[in-house]
This record gives sequence, structure tokens and C-alpha cells, in this order.
Amino acid sequence: WPLNMALAEETKAVVAKFDYTDENLNAGVKEFIRQMGEGLEQDGTSLSQIPTYVTAVPNGTEKGMYMAVDLGGTNFRVCSILLNGDTTFNLTYSKVAIPKELMVAKTAGELFAFLAKQIEEFLKTHHQEHFYKAVRRRQTFSAPEGYRDENALQLGFTFSFPVNQIGINKGNLIRWTKGFDIPDAVGKDVCALLQVEIDKLHLPVKVSALVNDTVGTLMARSYTSPGKTGAILGAIFGTGTNGAYIEKLANVKKPMTGEFDKTTGLMVINTEWGSFDNQLNVLPNTTWDIQLDKNTPNPGIQMFEKRVSGMFLGEIVRLTIVDMLKNDDIHLFKDINSSHNDWKSTTNIAPQSGIFQPWGLDSAIMSVAAADNTPELGTLRQSLESDLHVYSPSLEDAQAFKAIAGAIGRRAARLSAVAVGAIVLQTGKLTDPEWAGEAIDIGVDGSLVEHYPYFRDMMYEGLRAIEGIGEEGAKRIRIGIAKDGSGVGAALIALVAAGME
Ligand code: ADP
Repeated sequence: WPLNMALAEETKAVVAKFDYTDENLNAGVKEFIRQMGEGLEQDGTSLSQIPTYVTAVPNGTEKGMYMAVDLGGTNFRVCSILLNGDTTFNLTYSKVAIPKELMVAKTAGELFAFLAKQIEEFLKTHHQEHFYKAVRRRQTFSAPEGYRDENALQLGFTFSFPVNQIGINKGNLIRWTKGFDIPDAVGKDVCALLQVEIDKLHLPVKVSALVNDTVGTLMARSYTSPGKTGAILGAIFGTGTNGAYIEKLANVKKPMTGEFDKTTGLMVINTEWGSFDNQLNVLPNTTWDIQLDKNTPNPGIQMFEKRVSGMFLGEIVRLTIVDMLKNDDIHLFKDINSSHNDWKSTTNIAPQSGIFQPWGLDSAIMSVAAADNTPELGTLRQSLESDLHVYSPSLEDAQAFKAIAGAIGRRAARLSAVAVGAIVLQTGKLTDPEWAGEAIDIGVDGSLVEHYPYFRDMMYEGLRAIEGIGEEGAKRIRIGIAKDGSGVGAALIALVAAGME
């Protein structure tokens, strides 16, 4: 009993360290709004506030056939989207793995030629009339010529690497990430690189938009969401976290180099909020947050993301649990028959367990912990055993794990409310008479919001606690899942872009 008491006490103390009070939350919102303003005025700030050159959102009546491609990591996706004009769409898609050698190709041309080839294959399979157009063109023209008649398919290019966007279909690659390394491409316009290869194949396809996945989410949600006003924010809570929202053009004070349609008076801004408060003015910073940051390749950067997104939450849980395991006074995952050689062998956890490996605890188990509210915690104990190789975890073990994972998840949800709440306040919609009675719509995507139980509920709880939102305001905020941001969202941006010509 005393051992269990010690565990209960320690768990309570750890949970308390992840408390993020209403007061913290309001200080966070204030600072988020301040940093948003700073990012709209100059470059090199914590929140990058990147103008996307998208100046309008759809309303669900858009029609036509568009293409979208998505290069973001291990796979390349090609799709065609038929917008039906009634908030519905039909999506056809194919996916291929990027060959490893092309991720580190000598020239950009090698990778982009492969991408263009996949677009050709897709047309051949799903849209033969366009494929045969290209075949006929190849017989007529030997040199590459851009296929530019009004029947060309408009394509939205979702490219999830850091780019310096200088127009709706222009952006220079800043650097590769996620295992790609083709120095030849750095500094070049990725849309032009793709267009050149498409033209070599004489495909009737025009790269008309460069798309960030958050903007895609915003557009997809605006097209499909019910009601006459589109979404104001698209946000991702998956491996990483980020959001794009609609800003008044007049508020964008820093110079914008690209051409764009100024008549709407709006500009979609990609906040890059993963880097909110890198200077830690207001973000919580437990000893486990500090440890985690040190073990990343980019310490001091993406500090908000490191407290919120799927890639990091499991690691915070792991570091916390490891500290408790090292404490002999606490009876967590302990092997009562152990010989006490070192702290690992005093546990009933197999050596190969993810608990002992940096980044070895997938945040998905936090969802299992949150979902299991039975007195025996049977499902969670089973997951601890099968996923984390804990032998016969006790009820007390599972209770401690659930409490700690829950506290870390809850803090993440409340931090998410800071970003969402700050943007709702920044748009001024809650007090705008033209929006009186209207829902304020937000599109979200990513495993965390989709699969973590109560994540949205905890976000709403946070939103209600924000000064200027409160009970009444939170009721008007409608957070809904927006799927296929890189498909239908990219298609919609291609549509907007085509309309600008
Ligand atoms: P991406 O953001 O890469 O497009 P996802 O939205 O699926 O992909 O997010 C993947 C991230 O979400 C991973 O870090 C994973 O650990 C985490 N994750 C996956 N499933 C769950 C879940 N059920 N609960 C919490 N986190 C999850």
C-alpha cells in the first residue's frame, strides 16, 4: 500500500506540472496575437505569417475538373477532382512511392521528370482523352512546347517542404527535409521545375498553384462546409501542426513581391504556428519539454509544435515515465522479483520496449489511454503489453499511465485552443455585425483531432475560457474535419488561380 500511495502522489505531482490554467491560456492568446501582428509587419519573426497569394475561398458552388499532385514525403499522389458545384466532389487518385535514389538525385530534372511521368500514367489510366491529346502533340511538335489552351487541365501542386512563395504558382525551394537531398533544386522555383518536365511530355496540364497543406485544408473545408460563409481557418494537428487563416489585406504590412488579385481585400496567411513563441515568453516548459528539445536536430525551434503535435506528445510521455521508473520510491511498472542491477532491470518492461528508446512511444497509445474509461482499464493494459512490452501491467500502472498521458494530451489541446482562439479574435468575426449569428467555421485535419478522444472537447473547453470568446463565442465556433486538403483543396486553389489570369 505505501508504494501505491507513493505512486498516486507522484502521479498527481507530475500531472500538476502539465496544468495549463485559464490564466496561462489567456496570456498565451495575448502573446499569439502580438506575434501574429509582428509577423505581418516583418520577416524573420517567430510566426512567419507567409502570404500565400490565395485571396478568396470557395463557397461550394465551384464546378469543373481539376488536377492535384502532392509531394510531401515517401509518396507522390496524383489525383483528379470533379467539383460538382453543390459542395460535393468526386476524387480519383493514385499513389506511388518515390524511389530512394531519386530523393538524392544529381539533378532536380531527374526527380521532376519522374513526377511528370506519373502524371502522364495517371492520365493514361483515368483520362484518356487528355493522354491522347499529348500523344498527338508529340507527333506534331518535336520540341517541348507548353500546352496552354483553355482546355488544359489546371493543376494544384501541394509541396510540403519549406518554400519561399513569391506568387500563386511560384515558390523557391529553401531546403529539402524528410530525407530528400538534391542540392541542384535548392533556390529554384519548384512549379517551373515541374512544368518543364510536363511540357517535355506535351501533357495538357498547367501547374497553376503552389499549395501549402494548411491552405488546402482551409479551401477544402470552405467548399464542403454547410452555411453561406466559408471557413476562416484551416489547421493541421497530425505529425506536425500548422494553420492558415484569412487576413484582411490591409493588415499585411510587409512587402509582397508577387502578383495577386487585390479586389477581395483578403489574403490567406500561412502562420507556420509550429514556431509560435520559440523564445518561450509564454509557453509552458517542464523539465521533460527541455529534455525533448535537446534531443531534436533543431533545438529552440518549432517550440509550439513540440508541445502539441503527434510526433512529440508520445516522447513527452515517454520521458516522464522514464523519470518515474528511475525513482526507486515509486512502484511504477516494477518487477517485484528483480535483482536491482540498474533501473531498467527493476521494471517489468522488456528491453526492446519503446519506453527505453528515444521516440519509441507512439502517441497513438495516448488515444487508447484516453478512450479506456472502464474501472479495470483492460484495453489500455492490453496495449501496454502488446505495444510497449510491459509484462502484466497492474491496474495502478495503467491508472498512472492514463493520468500522465491524459495531462499531456490535455495541455496540447489547450495550447491548440490558444492558436485557434487567437485567430478567431484576430479576424474580428465574433463582433462583426455582418457576421451576427453566423457560425465561425474552422476546418481541421490530422490524426490527433481525428482520433484522440475528447481532443476537440478539450479545445472547446479552452476556447470557452478565453476572454473575448467565452461561452457564447465558443458556441459560434464550429470545428469540423476537412479531409483531402491536398486533393480537393489543391484543386480549389488551382481553380482560384485560373480565375486570376
Ligand atoms: P500527417 O500529419 O503526417 O499527414 P497524421 O495526421 O496521420 O499524418 O499524423 C500522424 C501522427 O499522429 C504521428 O505522429 C502519430 O504518432 C500520431 N497518431 C497516429 N494515430 C494517433 C492516434 N490515434 N492518437 C494520437 N496520435 C496519433
